[in-house]
Amino acid sequence: MKNCSIRQCPGQCEERRITHVVKYHGEVIVLENVPAEVCSECGEVLLPLSSAEAIETMLKNPGKPIRTAPVYQVPDAASA
Ligand SMILES: [Zn+2]
Repeated sequence: MKNCSIRQCPGQCEERRITHVVKYHGEVIVLENVPAEVCSECGEVLLPLSSAEAIETMLKNPGKPIRTAPVYQVPDAASA
């Protein structure tokens, strides 16, 4: 267990599988089952180097997606 990287956060990072979204050549790509460290307090996500490398390798030869997801844009929220 590691301490959270956010200063003053008392949380501890625990290993979890997350859904990670990346943009690759302008395309939104959703990756599931990515090993990451997630803070139990604030939810800060740390992607270990091994995961980042695995993603990079995979993106070079991604093959067929297991499924596709709709992508929406949230309209700009009115400020004030
Ligand atoms: Zn935290």
